Amino acid sequence: MKSKIVLLGPPGAGKGTQAKIISNKLGFTSLSTGDMLRKAVRNGTELGKQAKKYMDEGNLVPNDIIIGIMKEKIAEISGAFLLDGYPRTIQQADALSAIADIDLVINIDVPDNVLVKRLTERRSCPKCDIVYHLVNNPPKKDGICDVCGTKLCLRDDDKEEVIMNRLNVYRESTLPLIDYYSRNGKLVTVRGDDGTINDVFANIKKVLID
Ligand code: AMP
Repeated sequence: MKSKIVLLGPPGAGKGTQAKIISNKLGFTSLSTGDMLRKAVRNGTELGKQAKKYMDEGNLVPNDIIIGIMKEKIAEISGAFLLDGYPRTIQQADALSAIADIDLVINIDVPDNVLVKRLTERRSCPKCDIVYHLVNNPPKKDGICDVCGTKLCLRDDDKEEVIMNRLNVYRESTLPLIDYYSRNGKLVTVRGDDGTINDVFANIKKVLID
């Protein structure tokens, strides 16, 4: 089984959802930069204060802030890991390759019209960052997180005007990583809108075991 994995894909592709399933079912340590940054904002840390304005507008937090932190976080992991939302720029990918030999990059591909609908219908737990979907993956009790009982909300950056910017930022800064990782033969693309969440996981699992 591959052990150093990057999950790539546009916002709303299902990276976070799949990362949590892969981590629970296959024992990977999953590291999400989005979750890490949201936690820092909630806790009012220096990182959170620096990151908030970029996140609210749907822009990327600058490389010089994120690269150093991820270097430390990745160094703390022992065993198989999965990165969700990192790298998102060529500079981040170069920095990552200097500290870890990535085995596989899974690109979760979803068409734009599906992404916008998914993100606006997404509801997130502001406490534990678990993500639900009003139709495809609803919580057991309407509007309440299954895990911690907190009231779910629409993330500020899942509002339509911010989503459009996030998709543009993805195209400009992150999409070039598809070529970057294809060139060294590490990229596999999986459709993220083909069947249920479990169907997508089954396809990812095949690629991981291959
Ligand atoms: P996500 O939950 O992965 O969609 O991330 C939410 C927000 O966190 C993004 O819109 C960015 O503002 C920020 N962010 C997450 N990962 C990164 C990264 N690798 N580089 C820069 N900013 C990031």
